[in-house]
Amino acid sequence: MKILVHVCCAPDAVYFLQRLKEDFPQAEITAFFYDPNIHPYEEYKLRLVETKRVCQNLGITLIEGEYDVEGWLKAVKGLEDEPERGKRCEVCFDYRLSRSIEYAKQIGATHYTTTLLMSPKKDLRVLSEVGSHLAKNFGIEFLALDYRKGGGTQEMFKLSKNMEIYHQDYCGCIYGLFKQKKENAMWDLVSFFGGRRPASKEEKLFIKEVRLFAEGLDLKCKEWDFSFINWKLLHASLKVGESSIPFLVQPFSRSIKGVLKADVEEVIQNTIYYNKGGLKVLLVQELKDMPLEEVSILSDPTFLVSVDYKEKLLQNRIRAELQAEICWDTSSVLLIGDANSEYMIGFPADTLQDGSGISFEQICRFIEDRLSELKEKRLSIALLGAQSLGRAGSKFLKERIGREPTVVADYRSQNALIPSKEDPSLANSYS
Ligand code: SF4
Repeated sequence: MKILVHVCCAPDAVYFLQRLKEDFPQAEITAFFYDPNIHPYEEYKLRLVETKRVCQNLGITLIEGEYDVEGWLKAVKGLEDEPERGKRCEVCFDYRLSRSIEYAKQIGATHYTTTLLMSPKKDLRVLSEVGSHLAKNFGIEFLALDYRKGGGTQEMFKLSKNMEIYHQDYCGCIYGLFKQKKENAMWDLVSFFGGRRPASKEEKLFIKEVRLFAEGLDLKCKEWDFSFINWKLLHASLKVGESSIPFLVQPFSRSIKGVLKADVEEVIQNTIYYNKGGLKVLLVQELKDMPLEEVSILSDPTFLVSVDYKEKLLQNRIRAELQAEICWDTSSVLLIGDANSEYMIGFPADTLQDGSGISFEQICRFIEDRLSELKEKRLSIALLGAQSLGRAGSKFLKERIGREPTVVADYRSQNALIPSKEDPSLANSYS
């Protein structure tokens, strides 16, 4: 018996696949992640990585299907306004299952099924009808398994919580997302300045990818989510006359209403104070973003500009635009290894406004290099979310486990610090 399982997401898969293994111990099971209905791509990747983690844990082979989002959009055209569980969802199931069954046929599977059957929000009857109807045409049997009953749903939530699986807060497609979150949906769809800004999907994905890698090496991992006050830059511009000035915005600067036209009021050392709206320009030797050690409660709109532009700024009227948002948000910390390890090294999981940050490859190399120390509890690694905004990740860890990393890697580690065995602050751990 060979079973192909279409997988929609990790929370739905975790219990379903475990039960399937128990109920069909002789079967060869292959999981197939085919979900071009998920938007945006970062969310798709996040659900895929978590599914990989579930399959890795259960020893099940996982195949990723094509992310043919355009084909899916064409299939549901005209059904955009349908409610969830309506006609669009039927087409969506049909689309995903029919391609899954084609793949099942291709690999010689005798049976197929889908983890969608596990979802409390999906109509089991509709899914069974669609699945069985498609199966007939391909000479494959559809397994309409109801693993929700008999406490299955509770078991699924329990397992999902134990494994600290990412839990999505919308079904998947752009239409469902807008219906559910209205104007807040933009935060799920848009990454305003690239990189992995605090509390972004990219930051979460990074943490999950590193976790998958570490668990693949049999390293113990623990992940926590924490709330913090986030500052998000939406739009900014700075002009003198008609020419744009390169700049960065100081985090926690408040928004400017419309376009602010202002003249220089005073220059004190490296700060130019303007005569309107509390606007300030800090002149810096090198224009690069720096992590905030502490969050200040002062929030005048503040731009960082290279000192090379000083003369130009002093001679002309400035025009500034700035739109930012402050909100409660959620970020995460991942601890790899033992919380009581002799030494702990921190890596920022987020990136700065200019995109600087630690790469996935750097962390993986570091983990591989220090594998024996990690396993011997001499060393642990903390991936710190929202670290650039007042060391949020470090502070959370201190509160949660009573200690902070011995040293935290620099955001610009390409040419600066990734803690090495020779690092004096870690010398004892390797002596
Ligand atoms: S709401 Fe969910 S099931 Fe329905 S069309 Fe969107 S992604 Fe598919």
